[in-house]
Amino acid sequence: MARYTGPVCRLCRREKVKLFLKGPKCETVRCPMERRPSPPGEHGRDRLRQPSEYNTQLREKQKARRIYGVLETQFRNMYEEANRQSGVTGDNLLRMLESRLDNVVFRAGWGASRSQARQLVRHGHVRVSGKRVTIPSYRVRQSDQVELSEKAREFIVVRHNLDTIDRRPPAWLEVEDGGSAVRVLSLPLREQIDTQVREQLIVELYSK
Ligand code: SF4
Repeated sequence: MARYTGPVCRLCRREKVKLFLKGPKCETVRCPMERRPSPPGEHGRDRLRQPSEYNTQLREKQKARRIYGVLETQFRNMYEEANRQSGVTGDNLLRMLESRLDNVVFRAGWGASRSQARQLVRHGHVRVSGKRVTIPSYRVRQSDQVELSEKAREFIVVRHNLDTIDRRPPAWLEVEDGGSAVRVLSLPLREQIDTQVREQLIVELYSK
């Protein structure tokens, strides 16, 4: 399955905001956004001028894609699906992004970043309601139990993440089995989603 494999700190600089794509490094002074927050490229500083309405909407969409690690076609398809569902399209879209399996693994604190969480899923270390699932975009449902495999529970990196990451799982996930499993109590409401994305701008962009 395709994914972005280029330098991720460039993405934060392009969006002019920390997207927290690198785990612990993002919290330190080694974060390039602390030293060089201007957009990348030869004309990066020129891009600091006042953006147009379209540009603001486009950047918000790119920001959401980059935070959740979703490519354009998949993101567009998610939007179309969110638009077909009843309720507020922006809320539906964010709920779909949040219920991705790699995001749940990240929220559970097993991965320091979503890309590390994605790798745990891809390598078969995560089970959903007893079945091994290796698809990062798999969407969890209410009452699903997401758990680490026996082998992954002993991984130094997972133990280190559980011991050091100061990230409490959101209210829609209940911690079980001493932190090695989480239960999806319900799919998240907008107010339970801790993200810097302004989803309304994405809806405005796609509904043009
Ligand atoms: Fe973004 Fe993290 Fe890189 Fe800083 S260290 S630029 S927050 S990915």
